[in-house]
This record gives sequence, structure tokens and C-alpha cells, in this order.
Amino acid sequence: MTTCRTCQSPITRYSKSGLCRPCARKDPEVAARKSAAVKARYDADPDYRERQRTRTAEHNRSDKMRALAGEKAKALRIWEKGTAAMTPEVRKRAGRALVETRLGHIPRELREDYKQLIRNRWSREDATAAILASHEATMAQFRRKLIEAQE
Ligand SMILES: [Zn+2]
Repeated sequence: MTTCRTCQSPITRYSKSGLCRPCARKDPEVAARKSAAVKARYDADPDYRERQRTRTAEHNRSDKMRALAGEKAKALRIWEKGTAAMTPEVRKRAGRALVETRLGHIPRELREDYKQLIRNRWSREDATAAILASHEATMAQFRRKLIEAQE
């Protein structure tokens, strides 16, 4: 009977690494060989890869795995990383992005006027229409001036 290279416990004659199972699980060389074998099979058989991907995704969506992920996040206090990442610059950028999302359709120089209309209980549709009409009038006047200046 042969024994494990590292812990001297008995191993089967089928062991390629010369390690018992518990030692093989911790061995980086064995891990690298297994990883290479899986990668080779993935490359050779895209269907197999897709099947494995689907299975893994389903497994990760299971109640058990979701509960585990939740416990892990709590144990690592993962929200603290997100809170720490919220620097004043990040908040400012988020604020600007939110304004662009909400008021992107209103020309910048007319946004205060738009907000005033909203404060005066105009509906968003009416306020937008009024602001855009005013903007269009201003732009038409501006275009006329440009044409006059060229003549
Ligand atoms: Zn061992």
C-alpha cells in the first residue's frame, strides 16, 4: 500500500498526484491541473460549457445559495464598502447624473424657470411644453439676428 507524500495516510493506487484526497484538495498543483482540464473541456465543447453555466446560474439563484450569499454579505459587512465608496465627489457626480435624467429634456438655462413652474403647481407636461415653446421662440429670434448680421 502506498502512502500520501505529505501526511503519510494510505492512498489508492489510482492517485496520480501521490496525495490523499484531503491533501490533494489543498494542493495548488492539483488545483491548476483540474482547472486546466475543465478549461480544455469548455474550449472543446461549447455546449457543455453552456450547460454548466446554466446549471451554475440556477444553483446560485436557489433559496439556499441566496440565503448563504446574504449571510456572507452580512458577515463581511459588505455595505460598509459601498458607504465608504460614497465620497463627496461621487455624491456630486450622482447628483448631476440624476438631474440629467430628470431634467435632460429642459435646456440648462431654463431649468430654474421650469422648477419655478413646477413649484407653482404646473403639470410636468404643461411646464415642459411652455419651457420648450419659450426656448424655441428665443432660438428663432437668435437665428433671425444671425441672418440679419450676415446681410
Ligand atoms: Zn495526505
